[in-house]
Amino acid sequence: MSIVILGSTGSIGVNTLIVAKRYNIAIEALVAGTNIDLLNQQIAEHKPKRVAIANEADRKRVRHPHVLCGSEGILELIESTQSTTIVNALVGYAGLAPTRKAVSLGKRVALANKESLVVAGEFIDMSFITPIDSEHFGLWYLMNERPFSKLYITASGGAFRDWELGKMKEATFSDALKHPNWSMGNKITIDSATMTNKLFELLEAKWLFGTSNIDAVIEKRSMIHALVEFVDGSTTAHFAGVDMKLPIAFALKGEITDEILPPTDLLGIGTMEFLPIEADRYPIWNIKEHILQNPHLGVVVNAANEVAIQAFQEERCSFFGMSDMVLDAYEKFGDVRAANIDEIIKIDKEVRAYVGSFKSM
Ligand code: NDP
Repeated sequence: MSIVILGSTGSIGVNTLIVAKRYNIAIEALVAGTNIDLLNQQIAEHKPKRVAIANEADRKRVRHPHVLCGSEGILELIESTQSTTIVNALVGYAGLAPTRKAVSLGKRVALANKESLVVAGEFIDMSFITPIDSEHFGLWYLMNERPFSKLYITASGGAFRDWELGKMKEATFSDALKHPNWSMGNKITIDSATMTNKLFELLEAKWLFGTSNIDAVIEKRSMIHALVEFVDGSTTAHFAGVDMKLPIAFALKGEITDEILPPTDLLGIGTMEFLPIEADRYPIWNIKEHILQNPHLGVVVNAANEVAIQAFQEERCSFFGMSDMVLDAYEKFGDVRAANIDEIIKIDKEVRAYVGSFKSM
């Protein structure tokens, strides 16, 4: 078996290489952004046949004879590979076109790039998608084809879950990167602090499992990732360590018969609690119910959110300014509905232009 990894130098990409090595899965091709030093180390160790990078300017630094560049280069690379599984661990909207390209070629996508589904779930054939997300893996693990009535995923609460609300107004980008439980890429860590990540995961679950009857609660220690309420009145919970290698291993292999993570220490758990997600701390939660009924608006939230994160990083808006921008765009573009993928691309551009024109918030 061989795979292609898009985003190999990121948090999910690095873990995927570890899992692939453990199961002797060959790496046919790697795609990275700007971390060329790490990419060169990965090339030396895993010997991919092809690589692609974000920028032409970095081409000469890559120690490989077959280097493609830019977003078109990534699509060309996918097209040229024999592997039937593509791991998409790119971050943000940049992951959408590669997901669609892989699916159009009949390849299975092991999908960490949740933004693909948030933006265009309506136009992606889910039968080609295996999610790499601990919550969706947990839901899948629990379901066992039994009739369920409601799905729950858990949230850690992010960097500011215990901060005073007044202090959060002064929070900086580097404060928001201090996730209490998980070590992940910058964007998803900021999305965890605003709870946008959980909103995205609800949309992801909506497309994957075909239900809007799904909600999220805070479980601060990230010991439980998902719960399923069955029609018979039972509720089951998925406990697992804070480590993406478990969902990655299942996404690559389908079935696992050896130990990936140490089991949960039941007597060490102590008291567990579930808390509601409150909209004063996480203003994005105000649109949760509406967007679950109108998931086609994911493209609006995603585009606004990517622009807002950039503004927050560049200190052009405050922490809460990000949610203000996203909620404003959600209202402004509330009537849009893409009929096809070209319209998705158009709406994405329009929202970015609109949110980008804000001076500061
Ligand atoms: P990272 O920021 O750590 O990694 C992103 C990867 O994408 C890097 O390899 C980066 O390259 C590459 N990349 C970014 N832009 C481009 C581009 N234009 N062209 C080519 N490569 C590019 O993110 P994560 O690994 O944390 O997250 C990846 C995805 O997985 C996200 O959608 C996230 O929501 C999802 N996810 C992540 C989890 C986690 O535990 N980290 C858990 C569940 C889902 P480089 O670094 O070289 O610039």
